Amino acid sequence: MHEKITSVEVFLFERPRDTAYLGAPGTGEVMIGDRYIVRGFNGTVYPLIDRSLVVRLRDASGREGWGETYGLIAPGAVAALIHDLFAPYLMQLAPMRPDQAWDALYALQRNRGYWGGYLADALAALDIALWDLFAQAGGQSLQGALGRAGAGQLAGYVSGLPAPDRRGRIEMAEAWKARGFDAVKIPISHTEAGDVPGEVAALRAALGADHRIAVDMHWAYTADEAVALGAALEADAPWFLEAPVAPEDVATQARVAAGISMPLALGEEWRTDWDYRPRLEARACSIVQPEMGHTGITQFTRIARMAQGAGAQIIPHATIGLGIFASASLRAALAMGAGCHEFQHSIYTRNAELLDGAAPCKDGHFHIDDTPGIGVRPNRAAFDHLTPL
Ligand SMILES: [Mg+2]
Repeated sequence: MHEKITSVEVFLFERPRDTAYLGAPGTGEVMIGDRYIVRGFNGTVYPLIDRSLVVRLRDASGREGWGETYGLIAPGAVAALIHDLFAPYLMQLAPMRPDQAWDALYALQRNRGYWGGYLADALAALDIALWDLFAQAGGQSLQGALGRAGAGQLAGYVSGLPAPDRRGRIEMAEAWKARGFDAVKIPISHTEAGDVPGEVAALRAALGADHRIAVDMHWAYTADEAVALGAALEADAPWFLEAPVAPEDVATQARVAAGISMPLALGEEWRTDWDYRPRLEARACSIVQPEMGHTGITQFTRIARMAQGAGAQIIPHATIGLGIFASASLRAALAMGAGCHEFQHSIYTRNAELLDGAAPCKDGHFHIDDTPGIGVRPNRAAFDHLTPL
């Protein structure tokens, strides 16, 4: 067990990038100031830089635990919740298991209906840092603390082919295949004039029958459109379809899942097992994609157990950030028996340079060590991109 928490620090991680996530701004896409872009295909706002919120806890022994959550939009909201409420409360609590601490912090506002969103993100950052401390104090890796000690490998799928035309995307996919990766996911935004079946058919022809090809539909379809697209893709046997319809709409999600022949994957925007339960009960997905930056380790493991009980596969999501949450996700995924993990090659590898201990992703796999805790620490170069909040 770690000792009593004595300090809670919050940092904003920001790092410019040459090309925005999901590619350069398209015609008709709206910029908000010089920081955000509203994507035309789904109306969602994205930052033009890599950005996340990072926390550092210290306990009475002087040991450090690190955590990370979303900071894409209005990161000050999460920082305010931590400074105003969670940090002072956490520093009063007697040391306890991190899952008990998550429950104690969540209880503070659950009866007001604060069950997710920015509040859950703040909990996720603290929860990752608490598990980091807890595992280190026990002399264990995170996966060891979760009951699966030892190093290991976890398959990674290549996420996105951010080239401006189909020829470039196919060349990129073939290059990853040559480097030992046998799975790829494309977003609907990277197609010629929205021709998703044509894009998948071209990739199938180039990559061969055994390559796994998934399609992220970015919540942009109605149920009927999603089912029709599933039918149009059948000949090219997609690995799975992801997030076809509005994220809150359980009945429509279930309708799509029942209407397509390939697996449906959902979950990157949900925070807790309370979000997953009605979807799993409604058979709205057969693959769950928990995002560590939203769930933290406590909810990630609860979601994984719930999914396994419902017969669903676990293929975690990977968002934009420094990569502390990515390391926690890889280790928790290894412990919970995930089959594969998203590999955000345009983000993960670049920012892994700023961390000591990040798991390399090569030959189609993440190579995960059994070092203590979550296994990563920001290095000196990282602090050029970390601003105390
Ligand atoms: Mg997605």
